[in-house]
Amino acid sequence: MKDTGTSENELLTPMGWAEIDLSALTHNVRVIKGCLRRGTQFAAVVKKNAYGHGLVPIARALVSTGVDYLAVYSLEEGLELRRINITVPILIFGFIPPAEAKVAIRAQLTPTVVEPELAVALDSAAKELDTIVKVHVKVDSGLNRSGASLEDASRLLPFLFGLDYLEVGGLYTHFSSADEPDKAPTETQLRRFLDLAGAFPMVKFLHAANSAATLRFPETHLNLVRVGIALYGLYPSSSMEWNVPLRPVLSLKGRIVRIHRVRAGDGVGYGLTWTATNDALVALVPIGYGDGLPRLLSNRGEALVRGHRVSIRGVISMDQCVVDVTNVPEVKVGDVVTFIGKQPPEEVTADEVARWATTINYEVVTAIPSRLPRIYL
Ligand SMILES: *Cc1c(COP(=O)(O)O)cnc(C)c1O
Repeated sequence: MKDTGTSENELLTPMGWAEIDLSALTHNVRVIKGCLRRGTQFAAVVKKNAYGHGLVPIARALVSTGVDYLAVYSLEEGLELRRINITVPILIFGFIPPAEAKVAIRAQLTPTVVEPELAVALDSAAKELDTIVKVHVKVDSGLNRSGASLEDASRLLPFLFGLDYLEVGGLYTHFSSADEPDKAPTETQLRRFLDLAGAFPMVKFLHAANSAATLRFPETHLNLVRVGIALYGLYPSSSMEWNVPLRPVLSLKGRIVRIHRVRAGDGVGYGLTWTATNDALVALVPIGYGDGLPRLLSNRGEALVRGHRVSIRGVISMDQCVVDVTNVPEVKVGDVVTFIGKQPPEEVTADEVARWATTINYEVVTAIPSRLPRIYL
């Protein structure tokens, strides 16, 4: 086949997509860095496909903006970042099977260690590869989810110092309630963590703060913060006021592919769960729950068309949904429907979608599948 310079299997315009505003990402990094205490380094958390925003483009943009660390959950995510030649240190939060010790070391990833077994495997793999492996030790100071207990950590650390090919580069913990009005659990966890860390002054990095703690508690910054949700322009919870001007990075959009009239008394969608009380004009959009539009928004959520708020009618299907455009002047096929994002003067936020879906903004953006086309601005 002749190469004409245009690919025959590339879309001209997708009918449903997520739009990612990289200038908003850069803005957020700048604003968050402005809150940091002097000398505190910045780890950008890009786990789960960068909270649904797309791992590779987000990681590249973050690195060129200037972050000191990237952090992911799984070994696979870390390897993917190395495959695209990201060279900044990468911290792996999650469990690494000891059998994968060599893989992690060869890719120069920084594993989290919480018990001796992985540490021993890393130490002997590093010896074989004639290198030193840097690890961070995670301690559980009250979240009671993962990490070595405070007691176990105070035994684990001296054991790790005795391993010749392993270096403890950092010690960290994770807060349970930094996004909630009651400050006490955060203060308690920080105190317990610093008590432990005080006994091991040779460890270079101490870190504890997620987005919420970074924005609210400067005393938790220590020498590294681990920022996730705030990078993407979303606030860690809706139970607090956040006085930092973040800009949402992600919008979720589709185009109207059909407009049709329904008569008073007609039902719409599977199960006919919405019945028109008057004659209405409805529009079909190829965005469904398989694209991350929560099915809980059926007959409840709203979207934007030509700057107007419109209601979702009937149940959301896997690939498509129907919105009521009766009151949108000059609506036509091809118009953009915004499910998350702005159409001035209106905006639907991920927080609003989260409220309709009885969940949190984190889940709303993370649920947008990697298959959905993404347009980076
Ligand atoms: C996800 C995660 C973070 C980031 O949390 P945000 O609330 O998104 O800022 C930080 N640290 C650890 C250990 C995490 O798992």
